[in-house]
Amino acid sequence: DALSNKIAAGEVVERPASIVKELVENAIDANSSQILVEIEEGGLSSIRIVDNGTGIEPNELELAFSRHATSKIKTDRDLFTIRTLGFRGEALPSIASVSRVNMQTSTGSAGMQVELEGGKIVHKQPSEARKGTTIVVTDLFYNTPARLKYLKTVLTEAGHVSEVMNRMALAYPHIRFHYVSDGKTVLKTAGNGDLRQVIAQVYGRKTAEKMVPITGSSLDYELSGYIAKPELTRANRQYMSIFINGRYIRNFKLAKAIQQGFHTKLPIGRFPIAVLKLEMDPTLIDVNVHPAKLEVRLSKEEALSEMIAESIKKALSEETL
Ligand code: ADP
Ligand code: MG
Repeated sequence: DALSNKIAAGEVVERPASIVKELVENAIDANSSQILVEIEEGGLSSIRIVDNGTGIEPNELELAFSRHATSKIKTDRDLFTIRTLGFRGEALPSIASVSRVNMQTSTGSAGMQVELEGGKIVHKQPSEARKGTTIVVTDLFYNTPARLKYLKTVLTEAGHVSEVMNRMALAYPHIRFHYVSDGKTVLKTAGNGDLRQVIAQVYGRKTAEKMVPITGSSLDYELSGYIAKPELTRANRQYMSIFINGRYIRNFKLAKAIQQGFHTKLPIGRFPIAVLKLEMDPTLIDVNVHPAKLEVRLSKEEALSEMIAESIKKALSEETL
């Protein structure tokens, strides 16, 4: 119902950046190869996302906006083998409950368009049949003044959206992202799968040139990515990005493991720049801890930490040979 959607919204859609994250995740889950994200005023006045993914069947569009309706999980067992970024079926109803939403979608044949206000469909009509989905979210938090008050300046919110877009681009070098804020292109990736090239776009060419490829594996984990040579350190932890099965995550132990890999080469109070991708059997990771899916629980964390630290040491020592 309307109230539980609003309560869930408090957890899932904290600010414009969390909405962008959820909607881009949906576009990725729909196998898009191109994703356009346009925001106005930090996303507070408008967020527009255009993808070229599978689209939604016209007769399933209404269902997509109802609570706990997900096309991604069919059985209890699926919950433990999550491959998609979404699975709770909460994002669309939550977003719709605190904003005005217009969604146009097509699977390639007939298209459909719906308009929602306060989570309710107020208009529905057939639309063009371009395969993919366009969603426009406007007047964010117009019916939840308390949330609106808590938000910071346009600049701060736009910064959070940029962070989300950077992570998405780093996580998916095969997807062509175009991110526009107030009419200006902030990020545009080639979608050619070249991670170093995305790093250059996100952190600058000079930094990317000082990155060293890293690989590692153990029975359960596959590691790849780039780390910056020790002379390139930063004053905060934000530059250590870890992606597990395509999902940006935060994990204290794994961040520690990265630092251990740098051993004595890190000055006190300085942190590495790292972009690490981990692939593992989904049963080893529990992403169902928090609605935002940022914190995860990992099995065999010790072994994984060790593997990460060792792989970094190895990559750095090969570099100095
Ligand atoms: P979840 O992603 O957890 O399944 P959402 O509320 O985010 O839940 O989305 C509900 C459903 O709507 C999805 O399961 C999917 O079937 C459909 N959907 C949402 N966005 C898109 C999109 N961009 N392209 C195709 N299908 C989508
Ligand atoms: Mg989703």
